[in-house]
Amino acid sequence: MPKTKQKLTEFIKFLGTAGARFVMIKQLRASGGLWISAQGKNILVDPGPGSIVRCASSRPKLDPTSLDAIILTHRHLDHANDINVMIEAMTEGGFKKKGIVFCPKDALEEDPIILKHVYNFPERFEVLKEKSKYRVGDFEFETGIRHIHPCETYGLKFKLGDRSISFIADTKYFKELIDCYKTDIIIICVVFFEPRPGIDHLCLLDAQELITAINPKQAILTHFGMTMLKSKPHIQAEELKKRLGIDVVAAYDGMTLEF
Ligand SMILES: [Zn+2]
Ligand SMILES: [Zn+2]
Repeated sequence: MPKTKQKLTEFIKFLGTAGARFVMIKQLRASGGLWISAQGKNILVDPGPGSIVRCASSRPKLDPTSLDAIILTHRHLDHANDINVMIEAMTEGGFKKKGIVFCPKDALEEDPIILKHVYNFPERFEVLKEKSKYRVGDFEFETGIRHIHPCETYGLKFKLGDRSISFIADTKYFKELIDCYKTDIIIICVVFFEPRPGIDHLCLLDAQELITAINPKQAILTHFGMTMLKSKPHIQAEELKKRLGIDVVAAYDGMTLEF
C-alpha cells in the first residue's frame, strides 16, 4: 500500500475546566489543564491536580510519554500540581532525556513547585518572560504581558490551523489585556460570577468587557470557580452570545476543538 500523506488534525482538549481552590478541591470540574496537538507536537498547558489521571481516562487516551513540552502559566496548584509527575511521564520515567518545560522564574525559585528531582529529566527548561516568543519544533507560541496575579503569570498566544488563539490565564482585569490578546479565538479563565474587588481574578463582567473589545470569532469561557458554576456557565455563555452577537461557549471537561 502506498503511503498517503495525511494531514494531522490539530486540536485542543480541555482536560479540566476547574478554577481556583474549591472547585478543584471538590473536583466539581476536573483540573487537568489543556492538551494541545499542533505541528506534530504535543504540548500540555497547566497540569493541575489529576492531569495524569485525565490523560489516562481520556477517550481516545492521551499518552503523556508522547509529550514534547509542558507550559506553566504560573505556579498556583490548580495549574501546576501535576507538573512533576508529567515531567516524569514526558521523559519516560526520567530515562529518556526529552521535552521542554516552560515556566515563569518563580516556579523554580524558593519553594519551587518543580522539584529538583526532575531537573535533569527534560532536554531543557526555558524561563518565560513577558511578550516573548518560544518554539517547540514547528509549534510557536508567544507570552502576553505580565498579568496582575499574586505570582508571576503569563497568558499564551499561538496558532492552530489558520486560527490565532489566546489563552488568557488568571489575572485581574486591566485594559492592556485587550491589545495583548487580539486573536481569532480567546480562551478566558473566568473564576468569578460577580466582581470580587481585591482578588486578582476575572469575573464574568470582565470577560464580557474583553470579548466586546477584542471582538473575536469565538470566545471560550473556562476555569470556573464556585460562583460561576452555580450560575451555570453554559447559560451565561448563551446570554453573552445573544447580548454581544459573538460566538461564546462555556468549556466542559473533555471538550475538544479541532482545527
Ligand atoms: Zn487558577
Ligand atoms: Zn492563579
